[in-house]
Amino acid sequence: MPWFRGLESIVRERVPLAQMNNYRVGGTAEFFAEPPGEEALSMVLRRAADEAVPVRMLGHGTNLLVADEGVSGLIVRLPKHAFSDLTHEGTHVTVGAGHSLPGLVKWSANAGYAGLECLAGVPGTVGAALRMNAGGKYGEIGARVTRVRGVEMDGTPFDCAREACGFVYRDSGLRGRIVTRCEMDVEASDAEACWTHVRSILAEKSATQPLKDRSGGCVFKNPKRPNTPPAGKIIDLMGMKGVRIGGAQVSTKHANFLICHPGAKAADMVALIRLIRERALLECGVELELEIETWGVDPDALKARVA
Ligand SMILES: Cc1cc2nc3c(=O)[nH]c(=O)nc-3n(C[C@H](O)[C@H](O)[C@H](O)COP(=O)(O)OP(=O)(O)OC[C@H]3O[C@@H](n4cnc5c(N)ncnc54)[C@H](O)[C@@H]3O)c2cc1C
Repeated sequence: MPWFRGLESIVRERVPLAQMNNYRVGGTAEFFAEPPGEEALSMVLRRAADEAVPVRMLGHGTNLLVADEGVSGLIVRLPKHAFSDLTHEGTHVTVGAGHSLPGLVKWSANAGYAGLECLAGVPGTVGAALRMNAGGKYGEIGARVTRVRGVEMDGTPFDCAREACGFVYRDSGLRGRIVTRCEMDVEASDAEACWTHVRSILAEKSATQPLKDRSGGCVFKNPKRPNTPPAGKIIDLMGMKGVRIGGAQVSTKHANFLICHPGAKAADMVALIRLIRERALLECGVELELEIETWGVDPDALKARVA
C-alpha cells in the first residue's frame, strides 16, 4: 500500500523534474505533490512525516541542480492558484509564498511602493526568495519582511517575526521549513521613480549576466574572507570563462553563472563545479561555497579533490 493512500489526487509518483528547473537537467522526483491549499499541504506533510518520507520544497527551480539519478522522497510545490494571494493595507503587504517574485516587484512598482526594486531581475517565487534571503548589492528581501508564516516539514504551523527568521547573506533560518506567506513593509513613493530604479537594475543585470541562457544564477557564494574578490572575479582571474565540460559551461559574460547547453547532464555541471572548486583552492587558496541547492547529488562529487 503506498504511504499516500487516500491522497492520490495530490501525490504523484516518478515525476520528471527537468522541466521544473532552470538548468533543464535532472531526473525524476520519487513523489511529487501540489497540495491545493494549506489544509491539504499539512495533511500531505503529516502523512509523509508519519511514514518517514523526506520532504523538499520546490519553487521555480531557478537556484537548483537536480541529479540525473533523480531525487528520493517527496517534492512539494505550492500551486500558484492557491498560494499567490496578494493584499495590502497601505504600505503593509501580505503575499503568498507561491507568488512570483518578479510579479511582486512589478506590482509594487506599479503601485508606487518603493523598497523591493533591489529584487528586480531575481526570478523565482516569494517563498524561495525568503528561504534564500534573495537579493544583491542593492538589498535583500529579508530587510523588508515583518512576519513569515508557514509549516514545518511535519505539518506543524509556524509564525515568525523577522528577528526569528535568521536572515543572513543568501541564507536564513527558514531552511527545512515551508513558507506559505509573508508580510512586509514597503515605502510610499511614486510609480515613475520606482520604475526608473527597477529599469536601471534590470539594464545593469542584462549587460552583465547571461539572462537568456539556462542558468541557476550565481553558483558560488562570495567568500567571506576579507580582501578576497567575489566568486565570479576569482573564476574570471583563473581564466575559466568559457571553460566547458560536456554541456555545462562557465558563462563568458559572468563567470559565476554556469550555463547548460541543450543535451547537458547534471553530471556535467557537477564536474564543472568540482573543477572550479579545485582550481580556486589550488590557485587562490579559496574554498568556494555553493549558493545553488543540489538535490540527489553526492556531496563528495562536488568537493575539491586536491593532493
Ligand atoms: C538568471 C538568474 C538570476 C538570478 N539572480 C539572483 C540574484 O540577483 N539574487 C539572488 O539572491 N538570487 C538570484 N538568482 C537565484 C534564484 O533566482 C533565487 O535564489 C530565487 O529566490 C530562487 O527561487 P525559486 O522559486 O526558483 O527557488 P528554487 O530554486 O525552486 O528553490 C530554492 C530553495 O528554496 C527552497 N524553497 C522553495 N520554495 C520554498 C518555500 N515556499 N518555503 C521554503 N523554502 C522554499 C527550496 O527548497 C530550495 O532550497 C538568480 C537566478 C537566475 C536563474
